[in-house]
Order: sequence, then structure tokens, then C-alpha cells
Amino acid sequence: MKIAIVGAGIVGVTTAHELAQDGHAVTVFEQRSAAAEEASFATGGLLAPGVLSPWSAPGASQTPAYFGRHATLRLGSGLTLADLSWLRRWRRAARASARSGEPLPSLAALERLARYSHARLQHLAESLDLQFEHSPGALLLLRTPRDAQALAPALKALRDAGSTIREVDADTARTLEPGLSHALPLTSALHVPDGLAGNCRQFALLLRQAAQQHGAQFHFNTRVARLTGHPAGVQVEGESAPRPFDAVVLCAGVQSAALLQPLGQRLPLVALHGSSVSAPLREELHAPLGVVVDVQTQTTIARLGQRVRVSGGAELGRSAAQAHPQTLKTLYRVLGECFPGGVSHSSGVQVWRGARPMLPDGPPAVGATAVPGLWLNLGHGASGWALACGSARALADQITGRTPDISLEGLGAQRF
Ligand SMILES: Cc1cc2nc3c(=O)[nH]c(=O)nc-3n(C[C@H](O)[C@H](O)[C@H](O)COP(=O)(O)OP(=O)(O)OC[C@H]3O[C@@H](n4cnc5c(N)ncnc54)[C@H](O)[C@@H]3O)c2cc1C
Repeated sequence: MKIAIVGAGIVGVTTAHELAQDGHAVTVFEQRSAAAEEASFATGGLLAPGVLSPWSAPGASQTPAYFGRHATLRLGSGLTLADLSWLRRWRRAARASARSGEPLPSLAALERLARYSHARLQHLAESLDLQFEHSPGALLLLRTPRDAQALAPALKALRDAGSTIREVDADTARTLEPGLSHALPLTSALHVPDGLAGNCRQFALLLRQAAQQHGAQFHFNTRVARLTGHPAGVQVEGESAPRPFDAVVLCAGVQSAALLQPLGQRLPLVALHGSSVSAPLREELHAPLGVVVDVQTQTTIARLGQRVRVSGGAELGRSAAQAHPQTLKTLYRVLGECFPGGVSHSSGVQVWRGARPMLPDGPPAVGATAVPGLWLNLGHGASGWALACGSARALADQITGRTPDISLEGLGAQRF
């Protein structure tokens, strides 16, 4: 089949690779000059069960705090009706989960996809010999009993699915991550032995090359102005007519909803901004070995080669393009509390702000639409790096007419 993909973030690149490997003629359209320049650029690096990522799904972690210096969700002045509606739905789902004491079905869908994705990522990395920065082990820090309580539904979903999560005491946590500050108050921790810290952008750039070797063509600096149905196609900005394809896969991250709307397809997709700070290692003994999640502040600290990356913050609504000053303060504070002296702040520090493409129940939308030939792989929210390899494989199977290896229940666009 002749297939167009819109967007070359981690989701578009993994999709292009799977479809090209299956023998399809793949063309990727990307408005930026390279792959992984938007949300996939400097992600937190957490590769662990999807439900353990901060903001992975409603009811999976802390209830957001909206005000004050330690707010975990900041509402910008330019909130739209779509933002408010997303927030209402997210909060309603989180409350329903808290009331019932049971994890929402969306957590099971996320967990299934994340596990499959993890296996697929490892297969790709090994079989293609992708040399991307990664370090093993994920540790979730529970500073207080309240942190443990907040994670209870996510843990139940993981255990129901048979995942290996070890509850460890503070001393064991410090053995697993010896750089952790002894001054940090810690009740206990959760250890995910097969979790990883990994460089998403590097992986995307390497996999793009592998996709090209299978014949996929990447058109950079090429913006798709609109999608067409009957026949499926894409119209590139500056061109007078659409280009027809047998199938079009939309992987345009936060910009997907605007491309779908003219075709009568509405998706409750919003942008939840966050930031990361990457700094060179100063003293290895005081830095993380793998990736650490501070459940209280919804912040991750990951070891990526000779750098440490701290990431977090959640800002809803239109706001300035730069990182939010209060988010940055929190990132530096948490890094200093957990790994004091681990990084150098004097030079080579990279500050980044990106937008998580969020749907209101957590999991992405993967599959067919009501428009023949138009497929979706989008809305991966806060765990797109951890989910991309799996959702790409499952979607490629669907397009090729094979039964995917995992159930896609809870991932279809029709659920909205
Ligand atoms: C601060 C932060 C930390 C994060 N940490 C983690 C983490 O630790 N682990 C994890 O798993 N996930 C994490 N995420 C989430 C993850 O980054 C995203 O889910 C993922 O990158 C989404 O990938 P994507 O390919 O869907 O979107 P993108 O990477 O945004 O790709 C979409 C692409 O489509 C292109 N595009 C859009 N419109 C058009 C058009 N009209 N024509 C042509 N091209 C177009 C864009 O230019 C872009 O390149 C984090 C996100 C943020 C913001």
C-alpha cells in the first residue's frame, strides 16, 4: 500500500518504520526540519509501565494541586473551552476511581500497551543495534504514606496484569540509587527492575535511518495543510491539489485535532505543557544510575549518558513559549533535594518546554476512523516514549490486515 504519515515525532517515526518494514511504500510529512523536534525532543526519558508516569491517566497518581508554589497543575490565562472540558472529564474520572477504589479500565489498557511497547522497543534496539543512551532501573520515591496511597490504583492495575514491581524500604532504595541524598525524607520506594531511562530523540533519529533503509521517504519542512477523505490524501501547504494515498496515518501530536476537525472528526485532545532541564554530570557518585520518579512533585530525574535530565511541570492553557519560571524552580529544587552536587549548572545546561498530547482518559487513540483510509496514532499524553513502539506495531498490523498481538480495547478513537 501507498501510505502517508503526518508527523515525525517518536510516534510517526516508529509507525513509519513498522509499515516500511512490512513492505509498504511510506512517505512521512514533517513540518519541522528534522524528526523529534516537538514533544519528543527532550522528554523525561522514563521507560516504565505507562501507568507509573506522572500524568499518565486520571486516578493513577497524585490529585493535582492547583495553587501556590508547589502546584502540580498550573492553569494559564489563555484556557480554552476545550481545555476546561478536558480537565472536567479528567477530574471526574479520577474521582470515580477514588470512590470505587478500583483502577479505571483505561489503566489496564495503558498497562497492556506499555508492556507490549517495552518488549517491542527492546527487540528493535537489539535487532537493529540502535545505540541510544539508556540506563537500567526505575525507582519511584514515596516520601510520605500519602504518596503510596496515591499510587494504589495504578499498582493494582499493574499487579492484576502480572507486572513485577517491588516495594522496597528507604535503605534498599538508597542501595539501588546510591547517589540519593541521605537528607531526603523517604518512607519507601517502588522498584521497577525492567524500567529504563532512555533518550527518546536519539532513538527516533536512529530508527528514522532504519525506516529509510526499508524505503520510507521523509519530507521535512513540509507542512500538511489539510487531510482529505474519499479518496484519502494529504494536501501539502503551497500545493494546489491533494496527493492521494491508500492510507493516511495521523501522528501529528497536539496539532492532530485541528487537522481532523474539517473532516467532521472531533477528538478531545489538549496540550499539557511541561519542561525538562538537562545538565552535564559533575559527580557520578551523586547522580542517578537509572531513572527516579518523585511521586510527590510528579518529577522524573533520569541518567542519560553523561547528562542528568530532570523533567516535570504541567501547564494547561495558552501561555508563553518559554518554560514556566515556577516549573523550573521546582525542577531545580527537586534535583537538588534528591541528587545534590550531581550535576554542573555552570555550562552546557539545556532547558526545554514541550506539550504532551493528552486525551481525557489517558491512553492514546490507535486505529481506524469513520473516514475510510484515515488512521490515527496520537494522543500518547505523558507516556508517548514508553508507548510508541507498541502502538506503532499494533497499528501497522491493523493496516496490513493482521490481528495485533495485544487487545486494542480502550484505545479506539470511537470511545469519545
Ligand atoms: C516535559 C515532558 C516530559 C515527558 N516525559 C516523558 C517520559 O519520561 N516518558 C514518556 O514515555 N513520555 C514522556 N513525555 C511524553 C512524550 O514526550 C509524548 O507523548 C510524545 O513525545 C508524543 O510523541 P508524538 O510523536 O505523538 O508527538 P510529537 O513528538 O509532537 O510529534 C508530532 C509531529 O507532528 C508534526 N506535525 C504537526 N502538525 C503537522 C502538519 N500539519 N504537517 C506536518 N507535520 C506536522 C510536528 O512538527 C511534530 O514533529 C513527556 C512530555 C513532556 C512534554
